[in-house]
Amino acid sequence: MSEANSKTTVAAEALDRLDLSGCAAAIADGSLTSEAITAAVLARIEARNSALGAMLHVDADGAISRARDIDARRQRGETLGPLGGVPLTIKDMISVVGMPLTAASRILSGYRPPYDATVVARLRAAGAVLVGKTNQDEFAMGSANETSAMGPARNPWAIDRVPGGSSGGSAVAVASGMGFGSLGTDTGGSIRLPASFCGVVGLKPTYGRVSRYGVVAYASSLDQVGPFGRSVADVARLLAVIAGRCDRDSTSADQPVADYHASLAQDVAGLRVGVPREYLADADGLDATIKKRIETTCELLADRGATIVQTRLPHTRQSIAAYYLIATAEASANLARYDGVRFGHRTSTGGALDGLYERSRGEGFGVEVKRRILLGTFALSSGYYDAWYDKACRVRRLIHDDFLAALQQCDVLIGPTSPVPPWKLGEMTDDPVATYLMDVFTTGANLAGLPALCVPLQPADDGLPVGLQLIGRHFDEATLLRVGHVCNRENGAHLLRPPAPEVVP
Ligand code: GLN
Repeated sequence: MSEANSKTTVAAEALDRLDLSGCAAAIADGSLTSEAITAAVLARIEARNSALGAMLHVDADGAISRARDIDARRQRGETLGPLGGVPLTIKDMISVVGMPLTAASRILSGYRPPYDATVVARLRAAGAVLVGKTNQDEFAMGSANETSAMGPARNPWAIDRVPGGSSGGSAVAVASGMGFGSLGTDTGGSIRLPASFCGVVGLKPTYGRVSRYGVVAYASSLDQVGPFGRSVADVARLLAVIAGRCDRDSTSADQPVADYHASLAQDVAGLRVGVPREYLADADGLDATIKKRIETTCELLADRGATIVQTRLPHTRQSIAAYYLIATAEASANLARYDGVRFGHRTSTGGALDGLYERSRGEGFGVEVKRRILLGTFALSSGYYDAWYDKACRVRRLIHDDFLAALQQCDVLIGPTSPVPPWKLGEMTDDPVATYLMDVFTTGANLAGLPALCVPLQPADDGLPVGLQLIGRHFDEATLLRVGHVCNRENGAHLLRPPAPEVVP
């Protein structure tokens, strides 16, 4: 075998075996080159993306030349950063210089951001190789990646099922070896739900933990950027790179960034783990296998010395209504800027200014985005504001207070991420409210601004992934990672890899 061929074989094998931390270590010690692993990632995208629809844009040349540059630095004896030479992907809500940004919407076709988002600049400074942009729901509005104007992404564990949304492409990419990690955004569950459906780890950090500069705004009081990885250790490493105050985002908090890696070394002995009754015992429509897997995890944590505490989140049922009023109200204001004049798609049919706005927006936005803009505009309109938007804000306060009370008794809360396993593509498209209900366990953390982590549990008997959700105190990502790491270690579900998909005709 030629040297080049053997390098390719080693890299292809490493792609399924290593996690991000392992990949960075192998590049740093010279047993793997960034160029070889990046080439293996690009070959994997080539082989699987037509079936999975995870990537919207791939920058093969840029990634290879960046990888070569990292390899050259290593040869010169330079120390590589914590992500030195590791290929990653980025959700298409996040600005990356040199790549288009569409937010999976026709209205942004042709847009190329002139600057990097702060999170992207931080990944680059840590040595990452950025391979491309991932598929998502249009403007991150959805739970299944089915509202993308570029077509759906598919679940790598069952090609006829959804991968979860809105950051579906990021979760699919991480699960199927199109890079070792990804960044997504989470407004009401968009990192955690796809992580759960695809069997990977996903973290929504505390509101304000991570900069949103250069990130497309959906609902500004709820949006957070967060990492996807194959393991909790990977997510800890990515969080350490992107977390922290950014002067360009006034909502980013000036709070110290913990040593997330060190927190992985601690066990769970002495931790109080709260099980909200509304998330398990009294949860409406919770799938029996998901429930069983969570109960088993509670027993496991108890065996390791954690105390399981029964607790309550009484306003859980109201979180969907509050979330969908607040999120759509903020979205209707945020999306007003896409008018075909300043940027975005402009109609070719001409006419006076009002007509130009109307037609550009009519042609550019998809059905779900239009529905959200209408709902949000209505909730904010005079005469209805108090009855809808203002009331939703008051309910939000109750939900926030529920969480703070529960987190006074407990160090961390445990429950499902999704009430059901991944559904079949197209199964719910005619019933948007049914899809909204899938966010019942995820929206609470956004409304309260709390950090939440999704970790894979042992899959169901049919092989579909099952996700656990951990919710923690403000700025206490460390405890979530600590508990999540024990789950990884004990159940090993994060080591499973989906098979190559059959090509969809
Ligand atoms: N499914 C929710 C929505 O459609 C959450 C999406 C998100 O977190 N971006 O709004």
